Amino acid sequence: MSHLSPVLKQATPVLASRGEGVYLYDEAGRRYLDFTAGIGVTSTGHCHPRVVRAAQEQVATLIHAQYTTVLHRPLLRLSERLGEVLPATLDSLFYVNSGSEAVEAAIRLARHATGRQNIVVFHGSFHGRTMGAAALTTAGPKFRAGIGPLMPGVAVAPFPQAYRYGWDEAEATRFALRELDYVLATICPPADTAAFVVEPMLGEGGYIPATPEFLAGLRERADRHDVLLVVDEVQTGFGRTGRFWGHEHFDVRPDVLITAKGLASGFPLSAIAAPTELMRRAWPGSQGGTYGGNAVACAAALATLEVIQDEGLVDNAAEMGQRLQNGLRKVAADHPMVGDVRGLGLMVGNEFSTPEGEPDPQRAQRAQQAACERGLLLLTCGAHGQVVRMIPPLVVNVDQIDEALALWADAVATVDLG
Ligand code: PMP
Repeated sequence: MSHLSPVLKQATPVLASRGEGVYLYDEAGRRYLDFTAGIGVTSTGHCHPRVVRAAQEQVATLIHAQYTTVLHRPLLRLSERLGEVLPATLDSLFYVNSGSEAVEAAIRLARHATGRQNIVVFHGSFHGRTMGAAALTTAGPKFRAGIGPLMPGVAVAPFPQAYRYGWDEAEATRFALRELDYVLATICPPADTAAFVVEPMLGEGGYIPATPEFLAGLRERADRHDVLLVVDEVQTGFGRTGRFWGHEHFDVRPDVLITAKGLASGFPLSAIAAPTELMRRAWPGSQGGTYGGNAVACAAALATLEVIQDEGLVDNAAEMGQRLQNGLRKVAADHPMVGDVRGLGLMVGNEFSTPEGEPDPQRAQRAQQAACERGLLLLTCGAHGQVVRMIPPLVVNVDQIDEALALWADAVATVDLG
């Protein structure tokens, strides 16, 4: 008998046996409202019938054909359809299997295309656990400690984290851009810098949206110094934030976009998108992977895209997200330990703070567990685990949002008593 690795930290004791829409069921038949969605993956809801059908039909037709050997129709069709939702300049796609792998592909592309080495990332960033992506990740010590030496050529500049700094957004943005200029003037000269890699909203780093001025400042500096602006939309893409792409909230133009998670409703698939002219500058044969662009994953992604469009899920995410945030603010108003509620669309965080204003991961985790006991599945994030995040499938409706809010209010009240 073999066991799961003992270092796998399980956020809940739930053993899921089946999923349907916004709900997961355990083996005893107990129903949970799933506001984790496989960490922001099952956007169309668990086992959406159209996604299931598309995948089943594809399994029975062609499971795998490796794209550098032979092409297949689901890959071509998906690329065509993605072209309709991507910024027009990003007309070339490359597929792999996970967010981390896509980040690796973006690092390779940026270095090849510019002939420069350095990459700038921002405090609180999470770009993955493979060794290159881990070098770009600063969201917490656990992602880096003890695995070095990590890839060199990475510099870190601040992300505007207004709440944590105790500043307003304008101040936090000015500070972040001033420090970025200092980094560029000292340890990371623009002539050696390939890319800025940024999330439109910090994910694992604590669910903190960027500010429009910050991203505009990155764009301006990228243009001035011929540095690529790589936008990591692994968690913010595919409607999650109430716009199709998270960066659309900020009116900023990415040079490279990374997508995964919501892309295929749970099938392993990720991609980078870039202008053809840029993609051409990668060295032939430098990008690839046996399972990338798997036919079943591509068919599921196609169905996912159709469901998102046909069911108006991007607008639903915006509307339900607003309702969720409004309700969460009311809960926070009664419980000062929830110091901040923030987010975009259905990507919402509740930050727990001590009376002294320090991160309070203990209370955040107790609230998360109390919610689980009441049938509401949640996760934490943030450098200390002090933020309880809510990322339900985008098909969530008013009743389910209100049910989750009632369960959350009850869970937070219990923790406040304790
Ligand atoms: N980038 C971002 C913004 C993410 O949120 C994640 C996953 N949480 C990743 C990259 C890595 O994705 P994966 O776990 O699929 O490798």
